[in-house]
Amino acid sequence: MSSLEQAIAAVNRSSKIVVVAGAGISTDSRIPDFRGPNGVWTKNPGAEKSATIQSYVQDPEVRRTAWRNRLDSPVWSAEPNRGHEALVALEKRRKLHTLITQNIDGLHHLAGNNPDLLVEIHGSVREVMCLSCPYRAPMVRALHRVRAGEEDPDCPDCGGLLKSATISFGQGLVAADLERAQAAADSCDLMLCVGSTLSVYPIANVVPIAKVAGATIIILNGSETEMDGLADFVLRGSISEILPQLVGGAAAAPN
Ligand SMILES: [Zn+2]
Repeated sequence: MSSLEQAIAAVNRSSKIVVVAGAGISTDSRIPDFRGPNGVWTKNPGAEKSATIQSYVQDPEVRRTAWRNRLDSPVWSAEPNRGHEALVALEKRRKLHTLITQNIDGLHHLAGNNPDLLVEIHGSVREVMCLSCPYRAPMVRALHRVRAGEEDPDCPDCGGLLKSATISFGQGLVAADLERAQAAADSCDLMLCVGSTLSVYPIANVVPIAKVAGATIIILNGSETEMDGLADFVLRGSISEILPQLVGGAAAAPN
């Protein structure tokens, strides 16, 4: 049996699967990743610095640039790919316990995963939040104001700064989301990590949590990850090709 066939058998045996998804699952939807070989941060390390919450709050030019970038984001025309669809199939098989995603593109929602099973640990670009009050709203409304000429639209409730409802560098994760992710990791029988280098903490710690709890660990990624040493199966290659085979429920292909 190949390691893919063994991994398929492990998925078929499992009933409480936690998926950890990263940027690699969205690159086939033409959304660039951040830390891969062609990643945004890899090619332009300065962009990582300007993505901090401190510079966003302090520098109006950073905010104006951010709003222009949001208008032009590839997210708005992106569609879910076969990798996202495979995770919907996994949910239909009633095996998906929780889908923890590091992606902020909202494509798991668009693909049709149940929002109740989804933890968007780094937030979503499809909403805006106020940095001073609880105001939240769909991003499209704020972008409409930008198109109408506002360079840095403020909060309609309190006049505070608006930002996409994502976790920027320098911002802590939402505690309830992190706790939910950790609890899911602690109770799953299989953890499937897809398209992430598993190098961003604290969320990468869900992998050792699942390992200690006795779960089978499968890692599918285009390159090495920091958690390969903990994995029962490491699969390399195209996510949109391999993931449907891995979780789709088809019998392992005969040799
Ligand atoms: Zn506000």
